[in-house]
Amino acid sequence: MLKRVLIANRGEIALRIQRACRRLGIESVQVFSEADREAPYVATADHALCIGPAAAGRSYLSIDRLLLAAELTGADAVHPGYGFLSENAGFARALEQAGLVFVGPPAAAIETMGDKIAAKRAMRAAGVPCVPGGDGALPADDAACRRIAEEIGYPVIVKAAGGGGGRGMRIVHAPGALAEAVATTREEAARAFGNPALYMEKFLQAPRHVEIQVLADAHGNAVWLGERDCSLQRRHQKVVEEAPAPGIPRDLIEAVGARCAAACVGIGYRGAGTFEFLYEDGAFHFIEMNTRVQVEHPVTEMVTGIDIVAWQLRIASGLPLDFTQADIRRVGHAIECRINAEDPFTFRPCPGRIARWRPPGGPGIRVETHVESDYAVPPYYDSMIAKVIAHGADREEAMARLRAALAETRVEGIATNIPLHVAILDEPGFRRGGVGIHHLEHWLKERA
Ligand code: ADP
Repeated sequence: MLKRVLIANRGEIALRIQRACRRLGIESVQVFSEADREAPYVATADHALCIGPAAAGRSYLSIDRLLLAAELTGADAVHPGYGFLSENAGFARALEQAGLVFVGPPAAAIETMGDKIAAKRAMRAAGVPCVPGGDGALPADDAACRRIAEEIGYPVIVKAAGGGGGRGMRIVHAPGALAEAVATTREEAARAFGNPALYMEKFLQAPRHVEIQVLADAHGNAVWLGERDCSLQRRHQKVVEEAPAPGIPRDLIEAVGARCAAACVGIGYRGAGTFEFLYEDGAFHFIEMNTRVQVEHPVTEMVTGIDIVAWQLRIASGLPLDFTQADIRRVGHAIECRINAEDPFTFRPCPGRIARWRPPGGPGIRVETHVESDYAVPPYYDSMIAKVIAHGADREEAMARLRAALAETRVEGIATNIPLHVAILDEPGFRRGGVGIHHLEHWLKERA
């Protein structure tokens, strides 16, 4: 087993990783920026080290500083959490070269999945269903692009191979707009991602976002832990997530899940990962793979009872999975709300001191947070301060428990999006379940 793990992240996920380490008897090393010096999880880690100023580029995103911190503290491994360097193949490789374990997949797998053209090709080869579209990079020639678009059928979406965070894509409804869309996206991609390669696929009009969680060990075993529905999004940011996905026939999910697990074995994947799909008209279409733990992993943990972060650490230690696909049971339903320090309806960030924090509790409620009363939310990072997760015997019970939990949560001193979550829980579309990825934005526009 690993002995000392450096946590190269901050906020709720840093604490989540620290807890998993403690459970497994692994020492934690928490690095922090000057802006996070007072964070409660820094004080509770076994070791802590300041790695630089608030600016992430000179702290949480600095490979050199993190390597130095690992060396100074005698860490034998690094857990990257999500965001920051978690999907940076160069970071994984630098750790490997320094003789440290990266708690994640091999650098080569991160690289393949980070290039969406390569990722799609690998998934097609592994039998994972993809969004209809070309198999490679778009040619420079306009006429050739037009032919590809005709074949796919309008509307199409032009996407950057190196894109991320919902940037670097453009929808095209008619041939006349294609050449300009390709040119603008290409320029944007070169500038923002350092990679001008583009690809094209069918634009799906009202899909749902459904993703498959996988775990793969270093001994050729891979399982899938069910699906999550993350369709409630605003500007490509997930707001509410749940497991299982309401109303999708189980045999369809079983088939795609089995493909994902098999693909992991095929590409030599290791660790936790998520295959993201758009689901429309009874079909799954792969869009990308995330090669890290995700914000919404707790809903899967709640319905399967499997500790995903602990398994990341065990797998990185070289241990084999000690259960098989047949052992995985799904119990009840879980829903997660991301609590952000922001205005609930204008979405303006509201960092600042939390005068009073009283988290909810009771049966089926889980809270993942790094905040407490008198904690100051720094303005430099992501505004998420907590996740409230409710589990119930069925979706109705999970919603009822979530509503009660949000009603008893007290946050004073800063604004949060709790009122938005309360309104979502009363919204008829969400209550029915199975809405598409544009539902939340349409509803927000209507009520404005
Ligand atoms: P990123 O890595 O930037 O998140 P994705 O490929 O995951 O890029 O796409 C982000 C979002 O863009 C999806 O969740 C979906 O809302 C939209 N999108 C991407 N591809 C398509 C498509 N072919 N049809 C419809 N919407 C799409």
